[in-house]
Formats: sequence, C-alpha cells, structure tokens
Amino acid sequence: MTNHRVAVVGAGIGGLVAALELAVQGFDVTVFERAPRAGGKLRELSVNGRPVDAGPTVFTLRSVFEEIFQRAGSRLADHLTLTPLETLARHAWDAGQRLDLYADPERSAEAIGAFAGPEEARRYRHFCGRARRVFETLETPFIRAARPGPLTLTGRVLARGPGQLRNIRPFASLWRALGREFHDPRLQQLFGRYATYMGSSPFSAPATLMLIAHVEQAGVWTVEGGMYRIVEALCRLLEGQGASIRCATEVRQVIIRGGRVTGLEIDDGDTIDADAVIINADSAAVATGRLGLAIRDSVPAQAHSGRSLSAVTWALTATADGFPLHRHTVFFSADYAREFNDLFQARRLPENPTVYVCAQDRDDHAACANSGPERLLCLVNAPATGDSHDFSHQEIESCRHQAFGLLQRCGLSLCMDSDTALATTPADFENLFPATGGALYGPVSHGWRASFQRPGSRTRVPGLYLAGGSTHPGAGVPMAALSGRQAALALLDDRSGRQ
Ligand SMILES: Cc1cc2nc3c(=O)[nH]c(=O)nc-3n(C[C@H](O)[C@H](O)[C@H](O)COP(=O)(O)OP(=O)(O)OC[C@H]3O[C@@H](n4cnc5c(N)ncnc54)[C@H](O)[C@@H]3O)c2cc1C
Repeated sequence: MTNHRVAVVGAGIGGLVAALELAVQGFDVTVFERAPRAGGKLRELSVNGRPVDAGPTVFTLRSVFEEIFQRAGSRLADHLTLTPLETLARHAWDAGQRLDLYADPERSAEAIGAFAGPEEARRYRHFCGRARRVFETLETPFIRAARPGPLTLTGRVLARGPGQLRNIRPFASLWRALGREFHDPRLQQLFGRYATYMGSSPFSAPATLMLIAHVEQAGVWTVEGGMYRIVEALCRLLEGQGASIRCATEVRQVIIRGGRVTGLEIDDGDTIDADAVIINADSAAVATGRLGLAIRDSVPAQAHSGRSLSAVTWALTATADGFPLHRHTVFFSADYAREFNDLFQARRLPENPTVYVCAQDRDDHAACANSGPERLLCLVNAPATGDSHDFSHQEIESCRHQAFGLLQRCGLSLCMDSDTALATTPADFENLFPATGGALYGPVSHGWRASFQRPGSRTRVPGLYLAGGSTHPGAGVPMAALSGRQAALALLDDRSGRQ
C-alpha cells in the first residue's frame, strides 16, 4: 500500500469511522477537528464536576460497531462494557397514564394489553412484524449500501423477492400508517415519535421510518461510564493504526487544483497536502461555502425549510421524586399535531413540548446508583433556526417552564439548583455545527423522495467524499458510522479504478 494521504474534516462518529477504516487499509490519515475534543454531537458535559451524556443516549445496532472493531483487528467487548436493557423506555402522559416497552415483544404486548386492551396488544404484534419486514427489506439494499436512486432501490428490493416492495410503504406518512395499525391515539403518538430520531415529523415522514421501532426492539444498550467511551475507544483504535487527530484545528477550505482535491487550509493559514478529503462536517457547510467556494457546488444546496429538527437540552443533576424515572423516559404532550405544527410550520419552540429524560444513573430496574442528586439529560425538540433567531433567555426559560411543568403534572418533581442546568439551544448547536441552524439530523426526512435526496458519500469533485448524519443512510450513531464506512469504501473503490 502506498502512503496515500487522506484528510478527514471533523471527528464526529462518521469521520472517526471513515478514518479508522482507511487507516486499517494502510492510508496515511489525519483527522482535523475544530472542537477541543473529538466526538461531535456525541458529547459529554461536566455538571457539578460529574460527566453527563449531552448528546446521544440510546445506543442501538451494536453489530455495526462490532464489525468496525473487528475490521480494525480488535473486539468491541475489549473496549466497552455494553449492557442490554430489558426495559427499552417508559412512556408517560399526564393524568397518570404510563406504558413501558420491553426488549421482549411479548412482554410489551402484555403491557399494551393492560394499558389499552387486548385488541391493541394484537395490533402491536402485527405492527412488530411490519416494522421488522421494513427493516429486513431495506437493511442490505439501502441502509448498508451506497445510496441508491429510486429505480436502483426498486431493482435491488425486487431481486430479493417479488413481494418485498409491498413492505416498504414509502408513500403513506408514518402517522397515517400508524393510525391504521393502532386505534389508541396514545400508541400512534408513541410509535410516531420514532420520526424524531431522524429529526422529522411523524405527520410528514414516510411510514418506512417504522423500521426504527424494530431497531430499538432488536436492542438498546447502555455503555458503562457513558456514551463518550465510544468516542474514546474509536480514537484509541485510530491512533493505534498510526492515524492522528488534530483537535482545536478548524479547516477553512478544501483546496482544488486541476479539478481534484489537493489539500486543505487550516485556521492558522497552514496548507495540508492530501490526495483525498472526507468531510464529516454537515453537508450544509459544504453547500453554503463554509469549507471554501471551490467545493460549494459539489453537493446539492439545501433550503432552510429542508432542515431536520434541532433541540433544547438541559444537562443537570437533581433529586428526582414522585415519579419512577426509568433510564429512558418520554413524557408526551397532549396535542402532537400542534407540537409539530409549532416546530415545522410556525418554526417556534413548542408551546406544549414532549420531553425526553435520560436518567443516567438508573439501571434496568429503574434503581438509581446513588442516593443524592442524579444526572439527567432533558430534551425537547426545537426548530433549526439557530442561525436566524437566537431564542432569548426568556424564551428558553419559558420552554423550560412548560417542559418541567409537564414532568410535574406527570408526578415528577426535580429538586435542583437552577444554576446547574446547562442549556444547549439551537443557536448553541449552530455554533457547534456550523451552517446547520442547529439541525441535528441533516436534511429532514419528509416525503418518499427525501431518502434519495440525502447526499451519498461521493461528491461532484474527484477526491472529495462526505460522511456523517447529514448523508446517507441518515442520522443516529450507527447510521453515521455506516456512512463513514461507505465513504471509505467509495474512496477505496475510486482509487482502485484509477490504478
Ligand atoms: C441531543 C442529541 C441527542 C441525540 N440522541 C441520539 C440517540 O439517542 N441515539 C442516536 O443513535 N443518535 C442520537 N443523536 C444523533 C447522533 O448523535 C448523530 O447523528 C451522530 O453523532 C452524528 O455524527 P456525525 O458523523 O454526523 O458527526 P457530528 O457529530 O455532526 O460531528 C461533526 C464534527 O465535524 C466538526 N467540524 C465541523 N466543521 C469543521 C471544520 N470546518 N473543521 C474541523 N472540524 C469541523 C464538528 O466540530 C464536529 O465535531 C443525538 C444527537 C443529539 C445532538
């Protein structure tokens, strides 16, 4: 293997995985990261001296990482202690209604039977089969493949069997499809929420996204010591392969000569030579010229209205009382249609938000590891307007008031010092992830075409590739990892074609 130089812009999951895959193949890889630490959205904040996961908290598709570690000559289990959750999540509505979902679908069906009646339990079993079939139909030809166009995907799916196409259901909205699956509106809301894992509205996202229900059903793991250990493990592997990670180094522009990539300019004005560049920054940063005008047109432009959701999060420590928090608890708003209208049409903070709470000291039996204040991440969805509207302190406080009011109506009281809640707003996310407006999941997944409009790993410029949650196959830790693998494969493929 020659000493082919690859520069990766961004040390998010997609960037780290692309870098690792290529370092393993003998490439000379350097990752440039503008933040002081690697990880991107997978970040950890210190609250009262304690580390709090402030990005992803739900770890799924463990096999994706097992394969990545294996290709790097290592074992995931030697780096991370992962524990599967028996209780996937607790769901609550005010007026004391609660429903737990379990890794064991039969246990979930029983819980649904007790919550909403035996007919809904029967419908849930049917829904599980549907969600599984969507996932199985799309896993190989779409999720784990280079981004296909609609015709290619149709061909690939048909090649797997004539009935397979029926499974995908791209033309109905998730909300409508769930309305046919369930009669109880609370279940429609619960499973509709999976659209927000792609930063989208259940009212506009395709029914295909019900596959996320299957992904969770297939396993949610906790990572001992917190999610950030995943980043540390990837960095260790990467450095073990001889690659380097330069944090606190912002890439100003990608340099193009003779129509192909020749290197980068970094923030101190230095030029770095590279034969190929993989961009893990959001693809919107490329399309808006944030990484140089020479590559601006290498990916399709994206309208602000095409952005996925942002969020307001609060990382805090508090003593929780009155409601049995689980590791993952969702407190639902009373009017989901209005919530998504606020987010996508009015583009304001929802007046009555749904609130997700990750109780990071809780185990699978909802027991808390310590008796004092526990570590919590609270999240509400927000519009990605972080570059056009800086929500005032008052607006964020009012949102917190609404969110914590819902928790209280559900019985949860949090005793905390208000100074200790570290808020992150859409404007903060825009500062962390430039050109996104704070959108956390790349382009929004609304309508059947959206999946085909998400950029793939190849761009229009030879030697320039994309990886990360804004690209195919989409957002989320395992998906971003798969995009990193796809970028590495595209680069390898193009290189072997040129030799
Ligand atoms: C609050 C929150 C909750 C989430 N919950 C979940 C969850 O429970 N489960 C799940 O699977 N996913 C979740 N996600 C989504 C998941 O975190 C992301 O999809 C994934 O981590 C994105 O990885 P990425 O490869 O796109 O890189 P990113 O994390 O977007 O990182 C990109 C990196 O590029 C760097 N960069 C940008 N521009 C430059 C430049 N010019 N020079 C150098 N570096 C640059 C940035 O600083 C950043 O570090 C959540 C995300 C957030 C924010």
